[in-house]
Amino acid sequence: MTTYLCTDDIFLQHRPQGEHPERPERLVAIRRALQGSDLLARVQALPPRPATRDELRRVHSEAYLSDLERRLGPGAATAASGWLDPDTYYGPGTYQAALCAAGGAIELALRIFHSESDNGFALVRPPGHHACRDRAMGFCLLNNIAAAAAAVRAEGGRVAIVDFDVHHGNGTEQIFSGQRDILFISAHQYPFYPGTGAAVVTGEAMNAGTTVNIPLPQGSAGEEYRLIFDKIVVPALSRFAPDVILVSAGFDAHARDPLAGMSLVEADYAHMVATLVAVQPRLALILEGGYHLDALAASVLATLRVLTAASRSHAAAVDPPPAGLPLLEEVRHLATTLQSLHHLTPAEQTRTTA
Ligand SMILES: [Zn+2]
Repeated sequence: MTTYLCTDDIFLQHRPQGEHPERPERLVAIRRALQGSDLLARVQALPPRPATRDELRRVHSEAYLSDLERRLGPGAATAASGWLDPDTYYGPGTYQAALCAAGGAIELALRIFHSESDNGFALVRPPGHHACRDRAMGFCLLNNIAAAAAAVRAEGGRVAIVDFDVHHGNGTEQIFSGQRDILFISAHQYPFYPGTGAAVVTGEAMNAGTTVNIPLPQGSAGEEYRLIFDKIVVPALSRFAPDVILVSAGFDAHARDPLAGMSLVEADYAHMVATLVAVQPRLALILEGGYHLDALAASVLATLRVLTAASRSHAAAVDPPPAGLPLLEEVRHLATTLQSLHHLTPAEQTRTTA
């Protein structure tokens, strides 16, 4: 079992003009923490490469990709910086970083898909899960995890995506809406940016059983997340039986994160990842958000420890939740609603979590 770590200096070249939460210092903080740990000796470096146009065309429109290349690419008439949406900046180093973020995610996902039981982490930026088929959004230019999922699918793999970034992965949901051969599960603060992600999605995006949105109340902590992993995430994954699980690993649900209002700590992220490894050892984490530098670095290290150990014992290491908290009751009710919505029957749960 090998744990791959895909990262590169190129991801530091995507720089904002002024202050912005999605900044190179995020990766610098993670790297510094890694260098002060024993983890670098336990992972295998996997260099990224730019995603090809064919790989990106699976998840983005040709018109959008051409527009990006024209405005940001090496031949851009005004080699400059600017904004693709009110939140999403670009600069001279953005285009190559974005291509390599998608390409790194693809390389990692394919490497793991073709392995026996390898796992890994793509420490890339800019992030991707808000990027839609035909537009940039929310700090994201190219949807890295969607491109990775589509690459595995193109080689015959069955892919599940679990998104525990505090924001709903609206771009990923949109890109795969109506496509029942990819399972998408997002647990996120709700209501919150970007406004999507309600339990019941109407119209084209409503794929009962394969688009599973878990809208959690502000303030949710480890107890609430463990409940929905036990009742919803694990049963949905077990029923779908993916060949590989890709994770939109954002760490902005951390209690110290400045952008959101959740209450997770490092051990909660470790527990979530250990739970997923127990379902499918072939697991690839792809970095999304996380804006408190110390909390981000500590959380990435905690999840990497689980990946390098790849042991179920981590899953049992967290204390059972205290009963009867009001927020926990609300989430318990949500879990019951979602079980009914996605036909996750109690019998199935008993079988799959045994
Ligand atoms: Zn986020």
